[in-house]
Amino acid sequence: MDWREEKRAALAHARLVIIKIGSAVLTDPSGLCAAVLENIATQMAALRGGLGMPDAPCGDGPARRLILVSSAAVAAGRATLARHERHFDVVGLAARQAAAAVGQGQLMRAWDRAFAPHGLPTAQVLLTRDDLRARQRFLNARNTFAELLQWDVLPIVNENDTVSVAELKFGDNDCLSSLLVNLTGADIFINLTSAPGVLAGNPQEDPTVGVMPCVENVGELDLGKLCGGKTTVGTGGMYSKLTAARRAAQLGVPTLILPGRQPNIMCRAFAGEDVGTWVRPAEHAISRRKFWLAYQSDPTGTVFVDTGAAEALQNRGGSLLPGGVRQVEGNFQQGALVRIARLDADGGSATLGVGLSNYSAPDLRKIMGLKRIEVAAILGDAHYPEVIHRDNMLLEAAV
Ligand code: GLU
Repeated sequence: MDWREEKRAALAHARLVIIKIGSAVLTDPSGLCAAVLENIATQMAALRGGLGMPDAPCGDGPARRLILVSSAAVAAGRATLARHERHFDVVGLAARQAAAAVGQGQLMRAWDRAFAPHGLPTAQVLLTRDDLRARQRFLNARNTFAELLQWDVLPIVNENDTVSVAELKFGDNDCLSSLLVNLTGADIFINLTSAPGVLAGNPQEDPTVGVMPCVENVGELDLGKLCGGKTTVGTGGMYSKLTAARRAAQLGVPTLILPGRQPNIMCRAFAGEDVGTWVRPAEHAISRRKFWLAYQSDPTGTVFVDTGAAEALQNRGGSLLPGGVRQVEGNFQQGALVRIARLDADGGSATLGVGLSNYSAPDLRKIMGLKRIEVAAILGDAHYPEVIHRDNMLLEAAV
């Protein structure tokens, strides 16, 4: 199917949409921009009502369900503190966490006010990465979203910045949104940003560069080359937006990256206008479980494999065996998520994917390069035949 046709059909038939908005869209140096929030709320009310839908159902419920991921707690907190002439150190994690605590309430109040005229109650959902790492908590969070959507309440999600430190962090709300696509089973991910869309090159090198209307295969983009610049107000630049889009694409979910400050931009897109960048979904979606295991946390080490093992993983659907491991980096525990990288003859390496290791790093160092019978002599009979089982591995992971 031609991408324009795909886009039109996907927008028209989407039932559950995740909309993420960055701090740079929602704030200026004096804090939250009420007019921007109001315009977005008005658009979301129109989308919820079925704008652009050929077969909007009649009856009491909404035609579409929406989830909003809103940044700007830190930016709103900073602006409030400045208004009260409190001078605080803006650098450092603790200051960021404290500023988020000041701003999060304001952010919710502002959204609540913006959605009130549309008769839409809002619900605050604050998440840390840890909440989605444990399978039980992941399922609990999923039930809560289902209930809120069933009640026709709008979930407004942000990272729980006040308690998010280092390994608990999503890193940014782009990453959080991609995990929510999986958690909630959304059909489309809309990312409202301060840029006009995905530019075809680095604007710092070529100021005349234009917006790409469509990214056919996000996995093949050279993100490092494309994303020289970052927006300064939020934490994510286009790099994190495209990484999030790549993850959504792996689930078979398209992403629409739009210039969030332009009035009615979402309504225009749903009405068929060619705005922003459409990131096409992969033809073959990965399973939700594999997505969860690959992205629930950052890899804590790297297992380097030889070219023979790499070939078996990539072309023959094999698992990773001890004999194929050449080098182990990091100090991970059994069951940890690790990066799998091919070690080339010239000393270079290339990431192949991620997976859950059946062995801790110290045990793996003892048995790497060995055959099954040799492994048994060291670790006894009750060891795993695979270092990483095929079912616990995602190749071409967006990490
Ligand atoms: N959670 C942060 C905030 O509310 C923003 C993170 C991001 O920009 O992605 O300020």
